[in-house]
Amino acid sequence: MFQKILIANRGEIALRVLRACKELGIQTVVVHSTADSDAMHVRLADESVCIGPPPSRESYLNIHQIVAACEITGADAVHPGYGFLSENAKFADILAAHNITFIGPSGDHIRIMGDKIEAKRTAKRLGIPVVPGSDGAISEDKEAKRVAAEIGYPVIIKASAGGGGRGMKVAHTEADLEVALQTAKSEAGAAFGDDAVYIEKYLQKPRHIEVQVFGDGAGRGVHFGERDCSLQRRHQKVWEEANSPALNAEERSRIGDICAKAIADLGYSGAGTIEFLYENGEFYFIEMNTRLQVEHPVTEAITGIDLVHEQIRVASGGGLSVRQEDIKFNGHAIECRINAEDPRTFTPSPGTITHFHTPGGLGIRVDSGVYSGYKIPPYYDSLIGKLIVHGRNRVECMMRLRRALDEFVVDGIKTTLPLFRDLVGNPDIANGDYDIHWLEKYLAKGE
Ligand code: ADP
Repeated sequence: MFQKILIANRGEIALRVLRACKELGIQTVVVHSTADSDAMHVRLADESVCIGPPPSRESYLNIHQIVAACEITGADAVHPGYGFLSENAKFADILAAHNITFIGPSGDHIRIMGDKIEAKRTAKRLGIPVVPGSDGAISEDKEAKRVAAEIGYPVIIKASAGGGGRGMKVAHTEADLEVALQTAKSEAGAAFGDDAVYIEKYLQKPRHIEVQVFGDGAGRGVHFGERDCSLQRRHQKVWEEANSPALNAEERSRIGDICAKAIADLGYSGAGTIEFLYENGEFYFIEMNTRLQVEHPVTEAITGIDLVHEQIRVASGGGLSVRQEDIKFNGHAIECRINAEDPRTFTPSPGTITHFHTPGGLGIRVDSGVYSGYKIPPYYDSLIGKLIVHGRNRVECMMRLRRALDEFVVDGIKTTLPLFRDLVGNPDIANGDYDIHWLEKYLAKGE
């Protein structure tokens, strides 16, 4: 087992990883920018190293500084959290070259899944169902038209290097296609420095359902069930549930087993999430994330297994603590992402939190790095906390969520809490009856 882990992240996830390390008796080092000297994870860590000024490029994304911090403190492993360097293959390779363990998969697996065209090809080869579309990158209008005619309109053009919902354009008819292709390419080029795009069938009313997987790096793979992340805004998740209200136990184990086998065949190591769109009883692979996800706590709530402990165990060569048959799904969990944003316009609302009170009681978990008097720096993501609620079934979970949202107090800034208070009382949400467009439509109505 590791002696000392360096946490290369900030906010709630840095604290989340720090807690797991403490429970495993591992020493912790955190790195931080000058804007985060007052952060909770810095206060609670055994050691901290300031690695640069506020902009992420000069601190949380500064590989040289992070490697230097490992050398100075004698850390033998790095947990990257999510975002920042968590899916950076070069970072994983550089750490390996310094004999420091990257808590995550190999650089090669990150590389394959980071290129969405290559990821889709790999998924298909491993027996995972994919969205019908082009076999590879498309650059010519003629070729785009041929593929689109074959799969049928509407189609979506997506950036191979894409992420965070950027670089996607929908074409409803052939007349839209040329413009969609050109704008997707130029947006992708500007955002990712890579203008490769591909085409797939645009599914009209799918749900977003993703499967949590783990590989032990030695040919064993397991799944921890699915999460439903259909409630999205601008392709960004807002509310997540486990299990999905749309799946039955048979569908759950069918897609779970396909994913676990794929992970085993790939020889994958650590945590991963295989994302699907789900429509009319069919699953369609869209991408795989090779890291811990923001929404992992809903899976922890229904399985009772700490996924960060598992990540650390696997990375240290100790293997998974569970076999597939040990993983049981118990009850229902929902996560609300609480952002420092206006609940209607979603414009960021940084500033000082004058009062912060979290709900408690059975089945309530709040993962957050903020506190009363904390000043939210304007440089980073606006997520300030996650409320995760567990109940024996979905009805109990929703009632408990409503109660917890009522207790939650964040003063001094705007947050998305009022949105969740509205959603929890909505009949469609109560019935679990929503797809990936539901939230946008609801917001557009401005009810
Ligand atoms: P990113 O990596 O940018 O998050 P994804 O491929 O994961 O991109 O897609 C993000 C979201 O975009 C999905 O959850 C879904 O809402 C929408 N989307 C992606 N592909 C399709 C598709 N083929 N049809 C309909 N919606 C899609």
